[in-house]
Amino acid sequence: MRAVSLHPDVLVVTSRIWQTTCTVVRRGAECFVIDSPVLPDELEMLPAVLEHAGFRFSGLLATHADWDHLLARLAFPGAPVGVAETTAARLASEPGAAARELRAFDDEHYVSRPAPLSLGQVQALPVPGHCEIGDAEIELHPADGHTADGMALWIGWADTLVCGDYLSPVEIPMISDGGSRAAYLATLRRLEPLVGAAEHVVPGHGEVLDGVRAMAILREDVAYLEALPEAQLPIARRSAAQRAIHAENVARVAAAV
Ligand SMILES: [Zn+2]
Repeated sequence: MRAVSLHPDVLVVTSRIWQTTCTVVRRGAECFVIDSPVLPDELEMLPAVLEHAGFRFSGLLATHADWDHLLARLAFPGAPVGVAETTAARLASEPGAAARELRAFDDEHYVSRPAPLSLGQVQALPVPGHCEIGDAEIELHPADGHTADGMALWIGWADTLVCGDYLSPVEIPMISDGGSRAAYLATLRRLEPLVGAAEHVVPGHGEVLDGVRAMAILREDVAYLEALPEAQLPIARRSAAQRAIHAENVARVAAAV
């Protein structure tokens, strides 16, 4: 697990699995953990990472309801979890799905954990909207299209965008269940001015980007999505795993016509 500091108030921890990112943001005496690393040892270390940085934990936020972003409750049992209204609706409509999918991943990779995942009561946040932290606020922007739900978070005082599963340097746009090409493109257009103003962009998977590189990925992703089903994969994202995601995108776009 890697931890990098983007700003005196912002840390990013990156999991060894799928380079899943977890962003820790502090303002005054409050601190939120956004998304999560995946492996048990990484989750176990998370409270110590905050303590070492001198951040006092307040609560959890998640960009969307995919299970690999929801695991921070394992590190902070009982903590409140704030999500977009769309994500709260998705979690309510598929109760236990995240815990089930985590169990399937753990079974496949022989991972054992001290406790099962329980999300408890989630708090639905209006999006677009904002989340107060200390004497400031984090802006919340709708980010659907990858899935049916989600939000991107703009940490204005640190010029940092935490965008969930968009703008990844390691993963092509993935249209999952509930997602769509049109919604994905609309989200990229919504994110564009934020990317233009950002010093740092934290994608759900992969290393933290500067604004210029994130904008280049945004353009590649728009071009890719607009060209589906005939699209070429971006040069840096053509592995077998990415080709498999591409095949699913093609099938989904064909089925949507
Ligand atoms: Zn993800």
